[in-house]
Amino acid sequence: MMHDAAFAAAGIDASYELFPMSEAQVAPFVAGTRDPSWLGFQVTAPYKQLVAGLVDEVEEDAAALGAVNSVLRTDEGRLVGFNTDAPGFRAAIEEGLRVPLRRASVVVVGSGGAARAVVYACLRAGAGRLAIANRTLARATQLIEAMRDVATDHPSLEAIELAGKGFSDALRAADIAVNATTVGMIDQGALIPVDVLRPDAVLFDLVYVPAETELVRAARARGLRAANGDEMLVRQASIAFRRWTGIDGMSDVMRAALTPVLADPASQA
Ligand code: NAP
Repeated sequence: MMHDAAFAAAGIDASYELFPMSEAQVAPFVAGTRDPSWLGFQVTAPYKQLVAGLVDEVEEDAAALGAVNSVLRTDEGRLVGFNTDAPGFRAAIEEGLRVPLRRASVVVVGSGGAARAVVYACLRAGAGRLAIANRTLARATQLIEAMRDVATDHPSLEAIELAGKGFSDALRAADIAVNATTVGMIDQGALIPVDVLRPDAVLFDLVYVPAETELVRAARARGLRAANGDEMLVRQASIAFRRWTGIDGMSDVMRAALTPVLADPASQA
């Protein structure tokens, strides 16, 4: 809906379509997108790795993240794999919430694919301190080891167990606290105790359904600036649209298309 709204606003005769497919269908599909009628496509779990091996080039960010979630077809018919989650997160924080990541102290909760993109974005943007808190400490430690080389400014990096005392200490020092787990969407509840955050801290929840998660509600009730994942969804879509069409600045059009859907997801079922 976001892309179709942007195509309409830009006067481009194109559409964004969904193709559920089995693993065996992926390679023939990707080969078909070399046809000049395609601008590109996007891919979600579990085929991000598979598609990375089927395109002609994987950009540095997507290679470092091990996740191609978008593909651009060049005018010459080459397929270039890229990733929009990391720049989408960065744009949501820096342009949406107007908080610089450079030198920021960030606590990221979670260690799955989304947390990986968030950590990568923070390190590339020059965050000063990064704590990764996870239910399973070993996954947070692995994520830090995998991302250590991405950091250029020697930030402080720390893996923390969610249930440990270090979590509250890290939150007290945080400029930005991020929920990058499925809690709030799949499991109800909130993992970040907002009362320990500083009054000037910002809270970002990657979950975008429901439109206001328990965590975002609690943060706002405490007077903190808080946003949910829809801003990241919009920003990453707008980045992909720019890569496909050369047209920038579609975030507002895309947000207007998305907001009613997220407010009432059942209406689209
Ligand atoms: P994932 O790979 O499955 O990772 C899930 C994470 O959540 C893990 O760190 C897991 O901890 C943790 N977790 C799950 N249940 C938990 C619980 N009950 N208590 C504590 N921790 C729990 O998922 P993902 O792909 O990273 O996605 C995470 C979230 O980000 C999803 O809600 C997704 O919709 C959202 N997301 C949003 C955007 C956006 O544009 N806004 C983009 C990407 C993803 P363990 O390691 O201990 O299992």
